[in-house]
Amino acid sequence: MSFKTTCPYCGVGCEIKISRSNSTLKLIGDKDSPVNKGMLCIKGQTLLETVGTDNDRLLKPSVGTWDETIKTIANIFRSNKKDEIALYLSGQMLMEDLYVAKKFAESYGINNIESNSRLCMYSTVEANKRAYGADIVPVSYDDIFLAETIFIIGSNTADCHPIVFNYVKKSKAFVVCVDVYKTTTAKKSDLFIKVEAGRDMEIIDDLVNQPWFKNKKTLSIYSQGLTQSTDATDKVNALINAHIKVGNINKPGCGVLSLTGQSNAMGGREIGIRTKDLTATEFFSTDQIKTLWVMATNPAHSMINYRKFETLIVSDFTETLTTKDADIVLPACSWSEKTGHQKNSERRYLEQNAFLSPAGESKPDWKIICLVAKSLGLSGFDYKNSAEIWLEMKIDETWSPRIQVREKIVEFEKVDRAYGKSINNGRLLEQWHSMSRTGKSKTLNDMTNKNPQTVSIHHTTNTEFFKNKKVELDKHSKQPCFKG
Ligand code: SF4
Repeated sequence: MSFKTTCPYCGVGCEIKISRSNSTLKLIGDKDSPVNKGMLCIKGQTLLETVGTDNDRLLKPSVGTWDETIKTIANIFRSNKKDEIALYLSGQMLMEDLYVAKKFAESYGINNIESNSRLCMYSTVEANKRAYGADIVPVSYDDIFLAETIFIIGSNTADCHPIVFNYVKKSKAFVVCVDVYKTTTAKKSDLFIKVEAGRDMEIIDDLVNQPWFKNKKTLSIYSQGLTQSTDATDKVNALINAHIKVGNINKPGCGVLSLTGQSNAMGGREIGIRTKDLTATEFFSTDQIKTLWVMATNPAHSMINYRKFETLIVSDFTETLTTKDADIVLPACSWSEKTGHQKNSERRYLEQNAFLSPAGESKPDWKIICLVAKSLGLSGFDYKNSAEIWLEMKIDETWSPRIQVREKIVEFEKVDRAYGKSINNGRLLEQWHSMSRTGKSKTLNDMTNKNPQTVSIHHTTNTEFFKNKKVELDKHSKQPCFKG
């Protein structure tokens, strides 16, 4: 028996084939996939090491039976004002999960609904709207092979989106990389431009004067290095403007590609998971929110200003720093137990298909949300399976990545900045986010422990900051952290 599914980690969206013979599972990259053509990076290759039920796997609700737990949550929701409740979702959730979460928020009147992908995505959304008039991605991975220059800025593509970088290296393009230190991508590029943290706008402004940019078919690739900064919208807008100015857009091999971090970050953006009140960081930095329901993300590990809430509800498949803090923990199905869709960086819909039964009493996220919605008396949440949700979503699956760009460039006022000392971080090839899944793989952990980069995340640019500090793996999250 064989199953076709998709890797749950990064936004490249590599498709996978799983075969089962007796009780043995085998995983390979799908050779017929237009996305990855059979290739998988080490995280994708080791996915089967992360399935099953280890000690950290959540198998039943933490405060009683499912019935009791759902009633308790409904009572908590009723005891709060609507603007005191927030849903904090994730780019790891499938299209169907996110759609049902949004429908629930709208039906119940919750304005505070955000996804963790807001943190990396929304500067691109706003920049696209300014530059193109809509949030579109007018390129595909095929453009990599048609480009004469590939300009990579703020993206360690080789470690964070390895299959896309494999295409970059296979292409005949001249590769230019801009970053704050010599990343793996920089080392493998034809030209590395080292930039002081925050000063990338000066490089973008000068692009239109560079022969390798203006006289060639150029594709720009970027990710969080560009999008997670205070003037990120302007930076992405400026990059698109540079393409428009020299005519490097809306033609084969030309354009701007944002590499999305998570497997379905793009899907959440398209469904329109977005607050009408507080932003994701404001959930944590203000005290308006009394009840926070976190799904498939780990803000205790990574959110600046993370704080305690009167009630913290967490749905996840495994224990994390956030579930440790939660008043109610709901066991959600893991990747291998879920069926639905996700959307990758080039805006291609991909299927995830369950090849294992839900572990213990775990349920898919959409089903848990439906139970709470029905307990609150809402109608329209009686789905039998995720296929019914997909049909209701009425997704237009036609593949049309190219658009007409605005004729007039939308200029913006640049901000004067003071440049001080700053700290930077990065990702490891062999680990993912807070390591709640990759941390279960022996192969990946062995590679991480051997990889000298686990101690070099900051200290290559911050030697003083790290002086006399010992870097270890955090006991719970196994994330590199410094002691002393
Ligand atoms: S490149 Fe991304 S999607 Fe592909 S196997 Fe690696 S982590 Fe998974």
